[in-house]
Amino acid sequence: MSILPIVLFPDPMLRRPCTPVVAIDATLRQLAADMLETMYAAPGRGLAGPQVGVALRLFVMDVTWKEGEPSPRTCINPVILEASDTLAENTEGCLSIPGIPALVSRPDWIVLRYTDLEGQERTERLTGFEAVAAQHELDHLNGRLCIDLMDEESRAAASPALAAMGALP
Ligand code: ZN
Repeated sequence: MSILPIVLFPDPMLRRPCTPVVAIDATLRQLAADMLETMYAAPGRGLAGPQVGVALRLFVMDVTWKEGEPSPRTCINPVILEASDTLAENTEGCLSIPGIPALVSRPDWIVLRYTDLEGQERTERLTGFEAVAAQHELDHLNGRLCIDLMDEESRAAASPALAAMGALP
């Protein structure tokens, strides 16, 4: 396994919509293993294909490992089938936008369908931080970033730092 370089904002790679994964083969399994290793080393709780320069619809997540209980998931071609009407506000961080916390409102539960590394289709109801992480990572596959969704106050606080990273004000 190896640790991959993480693509940083405002690299245009992060704005590219990703294409579906067509084959779950040795190359893809290696990529997923490397993405998990990269995420743990960062350290983070989620990482999407474009963040390591791969425009494919997959992400890895593990929201419990920092508490000593790893629960790694690799989600291939993920789709949100259902989302709650009720929203929850959370502060999100992104490994591609280090040091910029974004306060974002999202549905507080979702039903996620994805294919796992064994090629099995899975449908899961995710709540709490798992729901947040899955929505954040799925957005990456559509070129959308948490800073696009953040509240006015976070945006104002972050704008000098984002400008320093090379983004247009
Ligand atoms: Zn992110």
